[in-house]
Amino acid sequence: MNTGLRLVVATTNAHKLREIRGILDGTGVRVDGLDAFPAVAEPEETGATFAENARQKAIYYSGVLGVTAVAEDSGLEIDGLGGDPGVQSARYGGPAAATYPQKFEIVYAGLRARGAMGSPARFVCALAVADGERILYEARGTIEGLVNDSPKGDGGFGYDPIFFYPPLGLTLAELDEGAKASVSHRGQAFRQLRAHLASHPAWFRG
Ligand code: IMP
Repeated sequence: MNTGLRLVVATTNAHKLREIRGILDGTGVRVDGLDAFPAVAEPEETGATFAENARQKAIYYSGVLGVTAVAEDSGLEIDGLGGDPGVQSARYGGPAAATYPQKFEIVYAGLRARGAMGSPARFVCALAVADGERILYEARGTIEGLVNDSPKGDGGFGYDPIFFYPPLGLTLAELDEGAKASVSHRGQAFRQLRAHLASHPAWFRG
């Protein structure tokens, strides 16, 4: 089925794009990433919440590229760190913690200092679809787990190796892509979009 509809996912992250394409596969909507366009400047992420950042990004890319755009903002909230790294997940620890193993050390040092090793944590994904300045749709997905005592697994990306998912007894980095998408925060948010798309195809410009 080809509906002639196109949705641009505001990401350059190949992992995220593959995960999202897999979920929207079969809807008849052509899904492109930012790599399908000449590079444009990234917007600043100034929102205090995942939802605010997702809305800002979707409106920005829809305006700049002249397409219907879907943006997501996601991150890890660790209860024992008062919800950190939260919306700062990608930038946690600043330039001194450029790699994820360095970020994990900061997480573990913080948890040890608070006697909170093994803390409950969740990944959150806020999604927004924009056409110009108009927000057409929003969704939110979460996955609940625990901070694993040490990084484990080499799949996925970001904080996956330190996120233990109790129902499967594994970290997210120990799951293959399909298994991760079936339980992940992003998977849940984009499956809501998929269901919505089926009933609202008229939103999209080509
Ligand atoms: P964003 O690109 O500003 O949304 O930043 C999201 C950041 O949150 C990523 O760079 C990762 O650090 C973290 N993150 C979001 N989703 C995941 C995931 O599925 N696994 C691991 N880390 C994630």
